[in-house]
Amino acid sequence: MRAHLGLGSNEGERQQALRAARSALERRGLHVVASSSVYETAAQGEVLDQGDFLNACIAVETGMEPEELLDLCQDVERELGRRRHGVRHGPRPIDVDVLLMGDLEHASERLTLPHPEVTTRRFVLEPLLEIDPCLTLPDGTGLWALLDSVRDQRVERAGRF
Ligand code: AMP
Repeated sequence: MRAHLGLGSNEGERQQALRAARSALERRGLHVVASSSVYETAAQGEVLDQGDFLNACIAVETGMEPEELLDLCQDVERELGRRRHGVRHGPRPIDVDVLLMGDLEHASERLTLPHPEVTTRRFVLEPLLEIDPCLTLPDGTGLWALLDSVRDQRVERAGRF
């Protein structure tokens, strides 16, 4: 099954962290079939006083169950996120989210698919559409149709990783 993962970093060597996450996922057996460009975005959500994020998406081919794939993403976050002076709720060296798994809809305590940010965040929509302009939600809505509602969010393309 084709799945799409979101990568984000706003601390340390951010571009290097995105590359390290992709490599760590591959080392654990995920077959990466496409990578988007890197996008720079201002932090959104509750903690506004932190550095800008670099975000990207990758497409993978996997036979894993949804929560197995989440486990793998969280293993990678732990591997790359170990910090000697961790601050709770502070900036994060790496975030790996499961954005989409084909047309699967999933709602458990641990995992919501599609990831809620897919419909509301430009830094998710832009890289997903770059990888696959025809990508749709499970209900058939084209992701391109959602872009208009997030145009006010500033997102800048910042090279490749
Ligand atoms: P965050 O710190 O924003 O990455 O959120 C991590 C939490 O979101 C974890 O406890 C996950 O169990 C939960 N979660 C729910 N749906 C997803 C998803 N599609 N991808 C990644 N984490 C998810």
